[in-house]
Amino acid sequence: MNKKIAIVTGGNKGIGLEICRQLAKKNHHVILTARSSEKGQAAVLRLKSEGLDVEFHSLDVTSLPEIESLSEWIQKTFGRVDVLVNNAGVLLDPSRHPPQTPEASAFTTDLKVIEKSIQTNTFGAFLLCQKLIPLMLKGKYGRVVNVSSGMGQLSDMNGGWPGYRISKVALNAVTRIFADEVAGQNVLVNSVCPGWVKTDMGGPEAELTPAEGADTIVWLATLPDGAPSGGFFRGRKPIEW
Ligand code: NAP
Repeated sequence: MNKKIAIVTGGNKGIGLEICRQLAKKNHHVILTARSSEKGQAAVLRLKSEGLDVEFHSLDVTSLPEIESLSEWIQKTFGRVDVLVNNAGVLLDPSRHPPQTPEASAFTTDLKVIEKSIQTNTFGAFLLCQKLIPLMLKGKYGRVVNVSSGMGQLSDMNGGWPGYRISKVALNAVTRIFADEVAGQNVLVNSVCPGWVKTDMGGPEAELTPAEGADTIVWLATLPDGAPSGGFFRGRKPIEW
C-alpha cells in the first residue's frame, strides 16, 4: 500500500473520530480502533459513507494481549505502520466542578481512580509505543502523537482532578522518553493539548469543535522529515511542559 498507515486509539467518537476523518482526508489508510466493536464499526461505516478509507480494529488500550495482537496483525497485513495517535483517554475524577469541591480534591480521591486513569491514559500509550515504534524504525518513518492535556502541564499545575492530571504528566514523560530513544531515526514523538473541546469529556460549554481540536494532532501526525520531536504543542505552537 502506497498510502501511509495510521492507527488511532479511541476513534469511535469525539476528537478521535475527527482525527480519523482528517487523516483519511489527507490520504492515509486509517485503522480506527475502539474498545467497543459495535461503536467502532458504526464510526467506520459513517466515515466510509463519506468516501473515506478507514477500517476497524478492536482495541482496549488497557489490554496488553489486545495491543500485542494489533501489532502482529499490522505486521502481517501491512508490514509497517507510519502513524500512531494515542488519543484514547478517560477523565475519571468524580467531579467537573471547581477543585475546591471535596469530590475533585486530592484529599478525598480514591487511589483506584488514579490507578485506573494511569492505566488508560499513560500505560496504554506506553505499551502502544513499545510495540509499534519498532515497526516504524524498520520502515525508517514514524509519527507518534500522544494526546495529552493542559491539565498535565507542570508549569500550570493546579489542584483537583489528580487522577487525570498525574496520568497526563506521566504521558508527557512517555513522549520525552521514546522521543529521546529514537532520536535521529525519522520517528517523531510529540505530545499535544487539543484545547478545550466539545465532546463527552469536554462538555457542551467547551470552546472548540472536535474538528478544531483535531487540527494540531493531525498536523503533528503528518509533520515533514526533520520536524521537531519530543515537544508539547497546542494550536500548532510549542507550549511549556
Ligand atoms: P471522549 O469523547 O470521552 O472520547 C474518549 C475516547 O477514548 C472514546 O472513544 C473512548 O471509548 C476511548 N477510550 C476510553 N478508554 C479506552 C480504553 N481503555 N481503550 C480504548 N479506548 C478507550 O473524549 P475526547 O474529548 O474526544 O478526548 C480525546 C482525548 O483528548 C483524550 O485523551 C483526552 O484526555 C484528550 N483531551 C480532551 C480535551 C477536551 O476538552 N475534550 C482536552 C484536553 C485533552 P468509549 O466510547 O468506549 O468510552
